[in-house]
Amino acid sequence: MSNLQERDRTYVAGTYKRFPVEIASGKGSLYFDTAGKRYIDLGTGIAVNSFGAADDVWQQAVIDQIGKVQHTSNLYYTEPCVRLAEMLCQRTGMKKVFFGNSGAEANECAIKVARKWAAEERNITDPLIVTLKGSFHGRTLTTLAATGQEHYHELFQPLTPGFVHVTAGDAEELARVMMGGRVAAVLVECIQGEGGVIPLTQSYAAAVAELTQRCGALLMVDEVQTGNGRTGTLYAYEQYGLKPDVVTTAKGLAGGLPLGAALLGERVEKVLGYGDHGSTFGGNPVCCAAACSVLSRIDDDLLAEVRKKGNYLRERFTGAPGIREVTGLGLMLGLVTERPAGEVVADCMAEGILCLTAKNKVRLLPALNIPWELLEEAADGILRVAGK
Ligand SMILES: *Cc1c(COP(=O)(O)O)cnc(C)c1O
Repeated sequence: MSNLQERDRTYVAGTYKRFPVEIASGKGSLYFDTAGKRYIDLGTGIAVNSFGAADDVWQQAVIDQIGKVQHTSNLYYTEPCVRLAEMLCQRTGMKKVFFGNSGAEANECAIKVARKWAAEERNITDPLIVTLKGSFHGRTLTTLAATGQEHYHELFQPLTPGFVHVTAGDAEELARVMMGGRVAAVLVECIQGEGGVIPLTQSYAAAVAELTQRCGALLMVDEVQTGNGRTGTLYAYEQYGLKPDVVTTAKGLAGGLPLGAALLGERVEKVLGYGDHGSTFGGNPVCCAAACSVLSRIDDDLLAEVRKKGNYLRERFTGAPGIREVTGLGLMLGLVTERPAGEVVADCMAEGILCLTAKNKVRLLPALNIPWELLEEAADGILRVAGK
């Protein structure tokens, strides 16, 4: 084991099972390790580096803001934060934005909003929030409780109460839970990311929309992974025809800096008042300047390119030897391979291709602007490895 890996093992909390790869630098969709080996990156740090590593335009936005001021407190106005909130509202029709630093915090905000709203507007003092089995909403104790996967819960009891997990696709079960009268909100991912790149069906998404409306509950969509152009629209809910009351996002929003956002629609825009919520780093000017740059580049042309590249990968993989199924949307794809996903990912790495797993699938989340030639080269490599 290298010196770096030994020191990591000695001093860094052992929460991550790392591959024996030491990333030294990157440019766009190429990364280089400390031994100088080249990798095509199809993981983007889990859908974070929207325009790849050390992208020039993104870098300049960050450098420009760092040269002015890196942080103030939320006691003062700063321009990048306001500009980003304005851009997000104008592009989604949402009304207000709360900024935090991560996906988990974005969801924490959504949950607080749903609870306060339910108490004030509907007189529900013991509200329930419904999420789906197999979902992933974060690692804080409350977002863990929201996460519909028991194995994350076991060692961390007691978790925050007030969550019910239902089976995705079973509209009758959802209807039964909703009729209880205590449901403040339903929180869903349009495509379960960590859960295995599993999209909601159009009919279930429509049932969620219909039931939340009929029961007066909030519809909240977790776009932490699916958001910011990843699926070929700015947010994935657009492709499901949903009109969410709350949208949460993070990962790719600032293209590699920590930033989370809860977008609040008309029904909840006034729920949070002075002192109801806060975050020291929330709305940080450097992160927001980075996000403004990222968002301004996610235009119709880029989104069309994302869809085209997603379709290209889908066509290459569908029916190919060693590949049983392709799931996902845009540049968020899951592959069911005949060989175990972990083996495929390890062999890809040896071939100089970085991809991820999600449950039993190989998961691909390349940069939104990955060059065609690298995409083709990576697809060739994955096909070679999967067909072995
Ligand atoms: C990654 C993820 C989160 C958690 O985001 P963090 O930034 O790790 O807190 C929440 N929801 C979804 C759908 C995610 O993919």
